[in-house]
Amino acid sequence: MCGAGFAILTGRNTINKMYWADELANQIITSGKYKPYWVDDMKTPSGRVHIGSVRAVLTHELICRALKDRKKDVTFSYVLDDHDPMDSLPTYLDEKEYRQHLGKPLYQIPSPEKGYDSYGQRWGQEYIEIFNSLDVHPEIIWGSQLYRSGKMNDSIKTCLDQAEAIRTIYKTIYKKGKPENWFPFSVACEQCGKLSTTVVTGWDGEQVSYECNPHAVVWTEGCGHHGQVSPFNGSGKLPWKIEWACKWKVIGVTVEGAGKDHMTAGGSHDVARLICERVIHYPVPFPFSHEFFLVGGRKMSSSKGLGSSAKEVSEILPPYLIRFMIARVKYNRAINFDPAGMTIPDLFDEYDHAARAFWQKKDKRLARIYEISQVKGSPSKNHFLPRFREIASIIQHPGIDAEERFSKLKGSKFTGEERRVLEERVKYAKIWLAQYAPEEQVFSLTTSISKAADRLSLEQKEFLAYVEELLSEEWKKPEDLQQALYERTKKMKIPTAECFEAIYLALIGKTHGPRAAWFLLENRKLVLKRLKEVSKKSLKTTRET
Ligand SMILES: [Zn+2]
Repeated sequence: MCGAGFAILTGRNTINKMYWADELANQIITSGKYKPYWVDDMKTPSGRVHIGSVRAVLTHELICRALKDRKKDVTFSYVLDDHDPMDSLPTYLDEKEYRQHLGKPLYQIPSPEKGYDSYGQRWGQEYIEIFNSLDVHPEIIWGSQLYRSGKMNDSIKTCLDQAEAIRTIYKTIYKKGKPENWFPFSVACEQCGKLSTTVVTGWDGEQVSYECNPHAVVWTEGCGHHGQVSPFNGSGKLPWKIEWACKWKVIGVTVEGAGKDHMTAGGSHDVARLICERVIHYPVPFPFSHEFFLVGGRKMSSSKGLGSSAKEVSEILPPYLIRFMIARVKYNRAINFDPAGMTIPDLFDEYDHAARAFWQKKDKRLARIYEISQVKGSPSKNHFLPRFREIASIIQHPGIDAEERFSKLKGSKFTGEERRVLEERVKYAKIWLAQYAPEEQVFSLTTSISKAADRLSLEQKEFLAYVEELLSEEWKKPEDLQQALYERTKKMKIPTAECFEAIYLALIGKTHGPRAAWFLLENRKLVLKRLKEVSKKSLKTTRET
């Protein structure tokens, strides 16, 4: 059902290696069809912002940036459809309080928190804040304003006048179609305020007659009211597939994609396209279909709550890294983000790699991804990047100054920018260690001899006594100490692994830990103290037996 251009777009064989947003911008420009460039995206602010919606808005914004980088004038808008009805109750809402509002337009429902005009505004505002933090600044259009200001009136009249043509479109796309007395409009009931429960039964050119049907939907009840009302200036809304097309015309949108669920053959986009072609006579905006953003392998729904909200993701990753994570994956490939394990350190590594590609002018595509991921202004100049996983390791050693350590590695003093980067990474490393790091990455010297040390065998204690001796010597390189430790284990009657296990059990209460020599030298003073306690204790135990 989709046009040929669209089919090419979703194809997966990329012939050249141009960055995808640049590729789309080129297609838009060379087609000569989509002027003036007006990119739009939209969302119903029905609850917490899922990270998937961030992918959608960012995909549009990246295309805007690509067009702007080609010196094109672009307008970017985002419609918050707060005139849509509430059709489910998110788990974090007070059900008792909110059940009565099911079926009403979001802008007519009270906000769960003070400081907002409505429920829709409460969540819409959260969208805006999240976007802005990612340096995404679309012009915000509230759906309720679009209707109440009268801007949708002409389209509403056209659609009601051409109800028959629209019924035919539905019949073309869906086998079942709509009944002959169906009209493409829903009124917000003048008595109970619900939109989802009303059925328009007639249109006389000025007013629609409607019924508020108690059994229209299973999740809320209509009040039974019958009435007549003008369909203009916000008294109701068009069904959204039709509204989508009308909104393109009213706003002047020329570029708008959507999630792949809307773009399948026979999906919402096909209905909107036919409305454009046959009813409102407006050229279909440049379409593209973006894939899902999965969190831990699942597609998240906005009503499910925790674990997937954009706000949560924005608390564990810096804004440029969220941009990078989304920007680097072609829009028509799924992203699966599981923050557990080494995902976050790997993501930082990839970002650093892209930064170097940009600074050293190496890999054009990767360099472009780095550039387009930047938040606020142009990319910074070449500087030292402390590796995230090393920061996470270092900050677990008491008494080590991270800046001193990394500037030694860099070979000169840190600049202000480098200090800022380090401080920011320390902040995110702490979050990663506390919430998502694999157990073997988290270690801290126990405050006294670990209880686990009681499990040490006689041979293991003997090995620790040797470690204590080795540590009293001077070591220029951790490698040499590691070698000495290793050679000693070879002489012991127990396996090497058990020897090293003794170190970890005594110091961090675990059977595994960071590379031994480095860990011992980093914490030499404390380690020596701890090892002395162990040997004293074993001496005591030996005497008692
Ligand atoms: Zn009613």
